[in-house]
Amino acid sequence: MSWFADNLSALAHQFFPSLCLNCREALHDPLAICCIACQANWGITDLHKFTENSFTRRFWGRTPLVQGAAMFHFLKEGTTQKIIHALKYQGKQFIGTRLGRSYGHMLKSSWTKDLPDCIVPVPLHPKRKHERGYNQAVCFGRGLSMSMGIPLISGGLSRLQYMSSQTNMNRSERFQNVLQSFSVNKNKISPCTHVLLVDDVLTTGATLEACAIQLMKIEKMRISMATIAMSQI
Ligand SMILES: [Zn+2]
Repeated sequence: MSWFADNLSALAHQFFPSLCLNCREALHDPLAICCIACQANWGITDLHKFTENSFTRRFWGRTPLVQGAAMFHFLKEGTTQKIIHALKYQGKQFIGTRLGRSYGHMLKSSWTKDLPDCIVPVPLHPKRKHERGYNQAVCFGRGLSMSMGIPLISGGLSRLQYMSSQTNMNRSERFQNVLQSFSVNKNKISPCTHVLLVDDVLTTGATLEACAIQLMKIEKMRISMATIAMSQI
């Protein structure tokens, strides 16, 4: 969000105080998402402080990562689930931007030795994009871009409809189908050689892996990844 939009939001807050997304208490800080008490229970991970962590291990033997981290552990019925739900299904795009801006400061201070040179969000499935009107990964990427000072290339990857229905496919066929649904827009990404690939939630990692494989078709490309949350599998 821009300086102007932030100030406009602060002004609106004077008349219509924002409520904590979790407990519905009035917020003192107009730019906060949750109250201080709920933020204390957010459970921000410290994964970004370690080159090898539970996030990067999920990609072992699949995709080489320079760095990888998720801001939160995704716990069902927890605050993180509420935040992600509000971001994806209630039109609250500012949540993604604010989380991104906050996490970007942490990533920048931990990844000083090898900072990515651009941010590319995982594109949304066209049908979802049409229904939702925005891509939550772009919102998160926009916030990261602001605080890390590196450009967001929202059209770096494109996503098509699946080539065929996944219903009767085995795991390998399903992955091939996902892989073919992404394509890289080389002209938009070059001359970057270290992309920070971002998404909302890491689950199996198949989507992020497919995107990374397509990005690595660009010569000398290296990949780091960041998500808002990661689930247990
Ligand atoms: Zn609260």
